[in-house]
Amino acid sequence: MSSVSKYFSGLFTGIKSLLVGMSVTWKELWTKKVTQQYPENRDTLVISDRFRAELTMPHDENNEHACTACGICEMNCPNGTITVNFKMIETEDGKKKKVLDTYKWDLGMCTFCNLCVLTCPSDAIKFENTFENAVFTRDKLKQQLNHEGSKMREKKKVERPVAPAAPVAAPKVPVAAPEVKAETPVVEVTAPEVKPEAPIANLLASVKESKTEAPKESVAAPEAKTETPIATILASVKESKTETPTAESEAKAETTEN
Ligand code: SF4
Ligand code: SF4
Repeated sequence: MSSVSKYFSGLFTGIKSLLVGMSVTWKELWTKKVTQQYPENRDTLVISDRFRAELTMPHDENNEHACTACGICEMNCPNGTITVNFKMIETEDGKKKKVLDTYKWDLGMCTFCNLCVLTCPSDAIKFENTFENAVFTRDKLKQQLNHEGSKMREKKKVERPVAPAAPVAAPKVPVAAPEVKAETPVVEVTAPEVKPEAPIANLLASVKESKTEAPKESVAAPEAKTETPIATILASVKESKTETPTAESEAKAETTEN
C-alpha cells in the first residue's frame, strides 16, 4: 500500500471513530438524568449484591469461622494483599494441628478480582457490598478479618454413619444376581447335549451307508467290465482256433483228393 493510500485510510478511520463517539454523546444528551443524593439517601440507597467492596470472614454466634489456614487464598492473590499467619496447637488426643492465628487483608492493595474467594476450599471468606471504606490514613485500610478469640469451626460428623448403611445393603443385591446368572448357563448346557446327538447319529448313519454302498457299486462295476472283455476275447480265440484247423484240413483234403 502506498503512503498516499495509507494516509487517506487512517484519515477515514479517525473520522469514523470520531462520529461513533459523538453519536454516544448526542444520545446521552437527551436521556433522562439520574442524580444520587448521597449521603442523604443512604437509607434508601440500593447497592448490587455482587458489588465487591470489602473482604470479610463470616463468624457464627459461637465466634467460629471456617478458615483452616491453608494459605491457598494468599498464594492465589496476584498482588500480595492477603497475609495468613498460623500457629500449631496440640489437640485433646495429643495430635498437632495447624490453626489460624491472624488473617490480614490490605484494602488499599486489593484489586477486587475475587480470586481469593473463588479458590478458598472452605468458603471461609466472601465480599460484602459495604462501600463506605473511606479513611484518613492508609494504615487503617489494613484489616484483620478473624475476630479476637475466634476459632475454627469443627466439621460435623453426623452424616457419616448414614453413608456406610447404603453400601452394605447394595452388595446384597449383587450377590443374589450371580445366583440367577448361574442357573441360566445350566440351561445352555443341556441345549448343546441335544445338538451333538443328532449330528453324530446322522453322520454315523451317513458314513455307514456310504461305506457299505460304495464298495458294492465299485465291485460290481469292475466285474461287469472285466467279464465282458474276457468273454469276448476267449470267444474270439476259440473261434480263431476252431476256424484255422478247418481251413487247413480243407486244404489237406483238397490235396488228397487231387
Ligand atoms: S480480591 Fe484479588 S486482589 Fe483482593 S485480596 Fe482477593 S485475590 Fe487479592
Ligand atoms: S480463607 Fe480459605 S483459602 Fe484462605 S487460608 Fe482460610 S481456608 Fe485457606
